[in-house]
Amino acid sequence: MTSKEIRQAFLDFFTSKQHEIVRSAPVIPADDPTLLFTNAGMNQFKDVFLGIGSRPYTRAADTQKCIRASGKHNDLEDVGRDTYHHTFFEMLGNWSFGDYYKKEAITWAWELLTDVWKLPKDRLYATVYKDDDEAFELWKSETDIAASHIQRHGEKDNFWEMGETGPCGPCSEIHIDLTPDKSGAALVNAGRPEVIEIWNLVFIQYNRDAAGKLHPLPAKHVDTGMGFERIAAVLQGKTSNYDSDVFTPILKKIGDITGKTYGGSMESDTDMAMRVLADHIRTLAFAIADGGTPSNEGRGYVLRRILRRGVRYARQLGQNEPTLYKLTEVLCETMGDVFPELVERRQVIEQVIKAEEESFLQTLDRGIEIFNGVTEKLKKSGGKVIDGADAFKLYDTYGFPLDLTRLMAEEIGLSVDEDGFLANMKEQKDRARKDRKEKSAVAEESGEWTIFAETLKTEFSGYETLEQKSRI
Ligand code: ATP
Ligand code: MG
Ligand code: MG
Ligand code: MG
Repeated sequence: MTSKEIRQAFLDFFTSKQHEIVRSAPVIPADDPTLLFTNAGMNQFKDVFLGIGSRPYTRAADTQKCIRASGKHNDLEDVGRDTYHHTFFEMLGNWSFGDYYKKEAITWAWELLTDVWKLPKDRLYATVYKDDDEAFELWKSETDIAASHIQRHGEKDNFWEMGETGPCGPCSEIHIDLTPDKSGAALVNAGRPEVIEIWNLVFIQYNRDAAGKLHPLPAKHVDTGMGFERIAAVLQGKTSNYDSDVFTPILKKIGDITGKTYGGSMESDTDMAMRVLADHIRTLAFAIADGGTPSNEGRGYVLRRILRRGVRYARQLGQNEPTLYKLTEVLCETMGDVFPELVERRQVIEQVIKAEEESFLQTLDRGIEIFNGVTEKLKKSGGKVIDGADAFKLYDTYGFPLDLTRLMAEEIGLSVDEDGFLANMKEQKDRARKDRKEKSAVAEESGEWTIFAETLKTEFSGYETLEQKSRI
């Protein structure tokens, strides 16, 4: 089955269970100040769960574009290092708004996986929240999963929350055992690639307020999310998402541009870099298609960090010129029919990415030199931690986001003094503030109000540039 067919099969299955198929919401949430990026399928239905909005249907299904690179759900550090966490992914989901509950959610998930898709039952594990006897019993009574394959887990894995506040509840998840000898029982939720979570069934029944308190919601709902790239890989008999047809065309294109071949190794720097590029282009393209732009603040800075990371990995693959933007085409070709916004906004996506790449490439090589100088000195002295002032210089003068410096440090077994970095940043801000104050005092004393007003204008824009630079 191709990934396109898999996506469609999911939607068809839930259509047959009377679900309304809805469109993915944009990855940039329109009206939720608690979120930088859409991080789950349920985001667009938050108002329904909270009882302040409604829809003309009580059952829905879709594929939702998600970005997990900030906030409560941040998988950026895993990207490239494992084969199943992406910064951008599609979440296949089905929902009940006060309609069906645990029994149907569990029965249908099992039916789709084992009856329609024929996944081997002895490779699947179901987890439930430690106190959720109801879900535990339903797995036993409504499905033919082996009792030994139902596990209870705690808050961290089986109580789902979209952010610090908002709708939440206990969940029941399905994991697949990819070990050669089906020995994965102890590896469920162990963060290991041998046993991977594929589907989360959340039973939304609380709202967490800003003080952290849980309040029961007016009705109970079902919110499920299945990783599309993960299920595509599984159904295509692969153990890495990057070997599924979601990613192979992108990796092939990266190979064409760089002259390298993707080998799927976890040890090879080249393969790691290729995975990162294949991941990051999707995040950047989808975010820009939905109105995001790299900048120095908030979600814009998340995008800028991702892009600069990408540029640095492309550099590792021997690219001295903008490269990422060239991957937009293959993305449009492979996903443009399902997400037409990619095709409609292709030019903007390419222009924005290319301009950002050009700008960072101007300082990247010099920054790498500085980094190498600093780390060589450190190694000679037997030190293990990059000085905060050095990390800050890389950030302030060469545009290296802190997480890029950290990543480069980790690659050679070093770390960064992040407190020192922050202290340097604060010092610079304080200095800029003090400068401004002193200038305004001088102006006041000499009574140069007109002149001062002029100075203020130029000084102010000067300060803005400094501020901007300091956030890079
Ligand atoms: P994991 O434990 O693997 O990090 P999760 O518990 O954080 O996953 P959920 O919030 O339950 O994930 O999201 C629902 C589903 O979305 C998961 O079961 C998984 O299949 C998929 N998923 C979650 N995060 C990612 C990601 N970063 N990349 C790809 N798929 C993901
Ligand atoms: Mg996670
Ligand atoms: Mg999990
Ligand atoms: Mg989960």
